[in-house]
Amino acid sequence: MAIPDTANSKALLDKLLAGEFPDGDGRFGAYGGRYVPETLIPAVTRLAEGVARFLPDPEFRKRLDDELHNWIGRPTALTHAPRLSARWGADVWLKREDLAHTGAHKINNAIGQALLAQALGATRIVAETGAGQHGVASAAACARIGLPCVVYMGEIDVGRQAPNVDRMRRLGAEVVPVTSGDRTLRAAIDEAIRDWVADPVGTYYLLGSAVGPHPYPYLVRELQSIIGKEARAQLIERGAGLPDAVFACVGGGSNSIGLFHSFLGDAQVRLFGVEAGGRGSALGEHSATLSAGNPGVLHGAYSILLYDADGQIQETHSVSAGLDYPGVGPEHAFLKQIGRVDYLTASDNEALAALDECCAAEGILPALETAHALAGARRWARQNPGMRILIGLSGRGDKDMPILAQHPVGSADEAAGERHAAA
Ligand SMILES: *Cc1c(COP(=O)(O)O)cnc(C)c1O
Repeated sequence: MAIPDTANSKALLDKLLAGEFPDGDGRFGAYGGRYVPETLIPAVTRLAEGVARFLPDPEFRKRLDDELHNWIGRPTALTHAPRLSARWGADVWLKREDLAHTGAHKINNAIGQALLAQALGATRIVAETGAGQHGVASAAACARIGLPCVVYMGEIDVGRQAPNVDRMRRLGAEVVPVTSGDRTLRAAIDEAIRDWVADPVGTYYLLGSAVGPHPYPYLVRELQSIIGKEARAQLIERGAGLPDAVFACVGGGSNSIGLFHSFLGDAQVRLFGVEAGGRGSALGEHSATLSAGNPGVLHGAYSILLYDADGQIQETHSVSAGLDYPGVGPEHAFLKQIGRVDYLTASDNEALAALDECCAAEGILPALETAHALAGARRWARQNPGMRILIGLSGRGDKDMPILAQHPVGSADEAAGERHAAA
């Protein structure tokens, strides 16, 4: 492992806090940028101009704030977790994105981008989805503002995520099964981009996580940073003060970057992203991109990815579909490089055990993605007694019932997970 250059890291963090990243090339230090075909340059440039113009615009903010409050139900609750606290020897607080409309944080981004599309004069929206959660959020946001929505979804995912396909269609979206390539998320992204290139003015591409070419990682982070802003203010208002540590799960990295951003400047607050450790550390058995990956370009940005010795992008595995992605947003690669955020893994088994514990102790069924954050926090709490811990509860677990049916309560061999984590 390289020894971090702390003086340089501090200078880089200061630049981020001062708003100097992403820079003119759309980079966070070395990471990010826009690695897109020539045909897409006008579209991403136009989008960057739209973001710079509308995000700070008071009229736009008013529209967005109204939807966040009256349609999504923000601010979401900050819930103290007394029984988890007692079990872990910590003071545990949960930021409840599961209570946001459609059941997860993804809607914050979807409605923001749908309003941006409308402001930019687009007449239709395209999106892509793997597990279907982002497709559902996009379909709902498009219905809300009255724009047609086309969701590209790999044929294999259409088969295994039938309830979400129905939900998207009910919400008025056209779901297009993609039969090319790997017939999953990666092929769906290619199709959505192809559609966008055909008419970059009339069509808006609604991307679902803090990934992709500039300005998407920045745009998605700005739309999700409401999570951390609210949580920070709620903790202070409730008299708890700043947390010692903040935990969030990391797939593409949107709920985590949104939660972390308000705390980046608080040097005493430790930040932890938890990735999917899956079934083991061999390539293909997990989705722990930052923990096990290497630098490279995927979906328009230079970041950290999982690829093999021949440079082939790896198949990934996680019990949670929302973490099952071989890349991660470039700002996370940057935050790891400068040492501001630590990235850990939680195995499938640890996540399943943490999910059961959260249900039994607090009466909250978290998403399987979220359960990774709980598992990482619990392990850390036991090693660091007496800490105040804030956890991003990114979504609710009702969508996961079919998978949970294969793992009866109490069946998760958590010790196996902890052995795996220690290895
Ligand atoms: C999609 C999803 C995630 C992972 O995506 P990020 O962009 O990393 O936040 C996490 N939790 C839930 C509930 C999700 O639906």
